[in-house]
Amino acid sequence: MKYNRVLLKLSGEALAGEQKFGIDAKTVAKIAQEIVDAKNKGVEIAIVVGGGNIWRGKVGSEMGMERATADYMGMLATVMNGLAIQNALETLNVETRLLSAIEMQEIAEPYIRRRAVRHLEKGRIVIFGAGLGSPFFTTDTTAALRAAEVDAEVILMAKNGVDGVYSADPKLDKTATRFDHITYLDVLNKNLQIMDQTAITLCKDNDIDLCVFNMQEEGNIARAVTGEVNGTIISGGK
Ligand code: UDP
Repeated sequence: MKYNRVLLKLSGEALAGEQKFGIDAKTVAKIAQEIVDAKNKGVEIAIVVGGGNIWRGKVGSEMGMERATADYMGMLATVMNGLAIQNALETLNVETRLLSAIEMQEIAEPYIRRRAVRHLEKGRIVIFGAGLGSPFFTTDTTAALRAAEVDAEVILMAKNGVDGVYSADPKLDKTATRFDHITYLDVLNKNLQIMDQTAITLCKDNDIDLCVFNMQEEGNIARAVTGEVNGTIISGGK
C-alpha cells in the first residue's frame, strides 16, 4: 500500500459524461464504484469536487457579471456535485459526509478541519463542497489547501482522457513524451498547465505529492492509491 490518506480531485466535467454538461447519473455511479473499490484497498479518502460542468465564475464575469457573484455561483455548483457523489456513494453502503465551506446546514456539515480529520479516521469518505468559500479561487487550490489541512499524502488528480503530464501537447506534437516523475519547480519553470499556480505552490511548499492519471481507464483510482497507476507523479517540494 502506497498511501494511507489521499485527496481525490474530481473536476465537475468528470461527472457530466458524454453530454459534457450537468450531471450524468450513470457516470457518477461508475465513479462512485471506483472510489469504493479504492477505499476497500484500506485507504482514507477525501474528495474535492469542482463545478465546471454546471457553472464557472470566469464565464459569468465574461458575460458582464461581477466576478465575486459569479464565483459564488460556481461554489454552489460544487455543492450540487458533492450531493450527487454523496448520494451515489451511499447507494453503495459507504458512510460519507459532505462538508461545505459555505454554511448550509440543512444539506451539509460546515467545514471544520478537526471534524473532517475525525470523519476520515472513522473510515468515512469526506466530500468537500463549496471550494474554499471565497471567490477568486479554484477547486484545484481547494484540493491543495484541504490536502495540507487534513494531512493527505497525495492529491490524486483524476483527468478526463489524459494519462499524465507531457513535455508538449501530445495531440499537437508527435514527439511529446510523458513524464513519470517531475518536480514542482519544473512545473512552475516550464509553465505546465496542470493546476493553477496557487495550487502548485501550496503543494510544493507543503510537500504534498500530486499524481496525475486518466480516470477514463477503469480501475485507475484504486491503482492510484496503491501507486500502480500509469501517470505522472509530481513531487520535490522545498
Ligand atoms: N470557486 C471559487 N472559489 C473556490 C472554488 C471554486 O470561487 O474556492 C468557483 C469558481 O468560480 C470556479 C467554480 O467555482 O470557476 C467551479 O470550480 P472549478 O472551475 O475549479 O471546477 P472544475 O474546473 O474542477 O470543474
